[in-house]
Amino acid sequence: MALAGKVALVTGSTSGIGLGIARALAREGADVMLNGFGDIDQIEQLRAGLADEHAVRVHYHAADLSQPNQVAAVVAATQRELGGLDVLVNNAGIQFVSPIEEFPDERWQSIIALNLSASFYAMKAAIPMMKTKGWGRIVNIASAHGLVASPNKVAYVAAKHGVVGATKVAALEVANDGITVNAICPGWVLTPLVEQQLKDRAAASGDDVASEEEKLLSEKQPMLRFTSPEAIGAMVVFLCSDEAATITGSPLSIDGGWVAQ
Ligand code: NAD
Repeated sequence: MALAGKVALVTGSTSGIGLGIARALAREGADVMLNGFGDIDQIEQLRAGLADEHAVRVHYHAADLSQPNQVAAVVAATQRELGGLDVLVNNAGIQFVSPIEEFPDERWQSIIALNLSASFYAMKAAIPMMKTKGWGRIVNIASAHGLVASPNKVAYVAAKHGVVGATKVAALEVANDGITVNAICPGWVLTPLVEQQLKDRAAASGDDVASEEEKLLSEKQPMLRFTSPEAIGAMVVFLCSDEAATITGSPLSIDGGWVAQ
């Protein structure tokens, strides 16, 4: 129970990678603030199930993190309801795929707002609390697309490169405050975000989803298998450990060899 007594906020944790991270942190004894969208009854089941299984406090806040004031609100609620904020995981993210000349302005704005600006606003609100305690861990979920590009993902790639840059700045600013700031850069993880891309690709190509899965992996990921949300959760837990106290400002790949090419 390495994280007993710590409080973690995981944004976008009602699904996919964020849920994997929330589970991993709860398993280590952290109290967790969940956030994200979804069916309210299912979210309540998830919340109560996690709390029961791991004997930790699990709360939920429905903040829409594309709104700066709601980012501040979920950070404040974490402190008010759970008594602090020791681990901040900026994970909520969305995707939209289109060439630049047809890329809708509102999609650009919503992706930058959630995938980039929300991480800035959350760090801004959380760092003073962590400084007071002299301990903190910030993990920003970037992407292989924070390090290299692909066509048709201009907003996503720009936002994720921005997250890697903001991670480095934050790490330098808090280097001697007991706080580390890192970015995790996953390759393909089979979550609803990627399942939607697979469905869209299958509709466009006329092939089935299974063959689109094979094509998706072979285009980018030399290790022809998906990373699991559990593996990313384990990486976050390690970054929270004492052994990881001098890992900071790093974009850490977990991508089956994607950016080694
Ligand atoms: P997902 O769609 O399964 O989960 C996204 C989560 O964000 C959900 O909980 C959703 O409700 C929440 N969310 C969406 N809009 C929100 C908003 N406005 N305010 C608050 N919460 C909101 O996606 P995922 O694949 O688990 O992605 C999680 C993160 O990992 C994203 O930042 C994504 O870019 C990144 N990532 C994913 C992959 C992948 O292959 N799946 C690879 C690299 C990076």
